[in-house]
Amino acid sequence: RAKSDGKGVFRFFEPEMDAAMQQRRELELDLRMALRRGEFELHYQPLASISTGDIKGFEALLRWQHPARGLLLPGEFIPTAEEIGLIVPIGEWVLKEACREAATWPDNIRLAVNLSPIQFRSDRLVDAVSEALDASGIGPDRLELEITETLFLADSDSVLALLHRLKALGVHISMDDFGTGYSSLNYLRSFPFDKIKIDRSFIRDMVDCAGAMSIIRAVGGLGTSLGMQTVAEGVETSVQLESLRMEGYNEVQGFLISRPLPAAAARDLLASRTPRETAPDMRTRPYI
Ligand code: C2E
Ligand code: MG
Ligand code: MG
Ligand code: MG
Repeated sequence: RAKSDGKGVFRFFEPEMDAAMQQRRELELDLRMALRRGEFELHYQPLASISTGDIKGFEALLRWQHPARGLLLPGEFIPTAEEIGLIVPIGEWVLKEACREAATWPDNIRLAVNLSPIQFRSDRLVDAVSEALDASGIGPDRLELEITETLFLADSDSVLALLHRLKALGVHISMDDFGTGYSSLNYLRSFPFDKIKIDRSFIRDMVDCAGAMSIIRAVGGLGTSLGMQTVAEGVETSVQLESLRMEGYNEVQGFLISRPLPAAAARDLLASRTPRETAPDMRTRPYI
């Protein structure tokens, strides 16, 4: 172990050196190798029509098969990947891989991909999206790019310019985790989003909290008047589903429909459903 011998030798194992800092350093080193080693994979979570229960698309969700720690969720490594800029090459891999997978689905099934605000700092983004589309052969109208409100904390003029260039490719732009940001409503008028995905926290609280239900209702109304589709994420119970249906939401996503699935399982799910077949709990519409 290194120690100071009084002649200015660097001590790298200070007793007070944070265990968390060590861990963080290791995570960085591992992340830098993960792409090359092919340790990332995508899981796909269905988005279903609220009125028919048909699967309309899947959201690609990043997973990291860590050699020692097992399968890691994005919350455990994306913040670090963003801090060190690695989210840019990782994000390009996600786009390519997800579009390639979507090309195996029927062509009425859409693909949603999450973008990090860091990816908007480089001009590469528009090229990366169009290269992923070209390489896979899927039409741009099958791709939905999900952004969050944190994107607008950066230089919003250049962000808006990039969003318009993306939209000009023919892809759809969704506002993800809506309602958690600082100035949510303002962003809605700054860009013609195709979809609003209301944040999971409102769905979680809707039964116990009248305030959450009021916001769900208000966002449903906003979607209708602004001509934006509304999607609820994190739907876990049929009670939540029924309320969302009454509030006019277009699509649902959540464990009630399906957890995120490995690519092969998502393909199987599509193959097992003819377009008219729907999950039993989605078919009953008692209020009609
Ligand atoms: P998100 O885009 O809002 O994705 C939805 C998250 O909610 C996913 O978590 C999903 O597994 C989870 N979820 C879906 N339905 C339910 C439900 O009924 N109950 C509960 N408790 N959770 C549900 P996940 O996969 O851990 O992803 C977390 C976040 O990481 C995503 O939130 C997204 O912001 C980010 N992310 C995921 N993949 C990527 C990626 O490829 N690139 C970037 N930049 N971010 C990504
Ligand atoms: Mg998302
Ligand atoms: Mg979301
Ligand atoms: Mg979310």
